[in-house]
Amino acid sequence: MALFLDIHTHIDQHEPGELSGIVERSRSAGVGAIITAGVTVASSERCVKIAHEHPSVFAGVGVHPEDMTGELTPGDVGNLSRLAADPRVVVMSETGLDHTPPESFRPAPGSDWKPSTGPEWHEIQERAFRAQIAIGREQGLAVVFHNRLATEDTLHILKEERIRDTGGAAHYFQGDWDYARALLDLGLYISVAKPLLHSRDFQETVRNVPLEWIVLETDAFPQSYKPDRAKWTEPKDIRLIAVKLAELHGITVEDVRESTTRNALRLLGQRGEPVRAVLAGSGGTK
Ligand SMILES: [Zn+2]
Repeated sequence: MALFLDIHTHIDQHEPGELSGIVERSRSAGVGAIITAGVTVASSERCVKIAHEHPSVFAGVGVHPEDMTGELTPGDVGNLSRLAADPRVVVMSETGLDHTPPESFRPAPGSDWKPSTGPEWHEIQERAFRAQIAIGREQGLAVVFHNRLATEDTLHILKEERIRDTGGAAHYFQGDWDYARALLDLGLYISVAKPLLHSRDFQETVRNVPLEWIVLETDAFPQSYKPDRAKWTEPKDIRLIAVKLAELHGITVEDVRESTTRNALRLLGQRGEPVRAVLAGSGGTK
């Protein structure tokens, strides 16, 4: 029996005491491996550390376009490259572009976090994105990227940086069919998350995406704005997404599980070897 692979989360951001429970609950839901992605150099470091402590957790390293504090420095690039070489790192993530106006963000009460979005950040984000794709290319790591309101620029950069050679996935995909088709034309995977449960338009788009190009993620992070802790998204919720995907494609949940895990391992390529080993060790994959 295949196991699910959650290709994108931020479970490193939970209280350290929560991690074992999150991993156990995901395990009971049939999730065999979880990738947790850094959003800054420091959090990438933390992701790598956690990946060494939990056998079924693997790391992504990267700087999120919303979390930049300035230009990515040569020191940052050096640190990301060093982390990217760690065998528990299986993707470059999270990186990408975000053109959301800063006033659209509602920071948590008491937080002094300011998103690095707005026109003055566009070129800084772009240079950082290109630098991180380059690390992925050098280290054989697929790039799992973020794009919000920046589709044209994202596609332009992906093409110029020859993403086809590196491989990658559009994380938390919520685009239309034109964007989906442009991604597929570049040989990229479409990573589907919980919006699939609610959006009719999105369901229609995903119905048309060939199953071989779909991977699953929850993007789980501490949702402290939800008062009921039981309602926070966790990697165990991959199952809900899989059930909806099975319904849309007219196949069984088991088919979805086998296919999306196979796709995810293809996405990770050679660097996914430790993930393959963990899934196989738990009777997870063929
Ligand atoms: Zn994310």
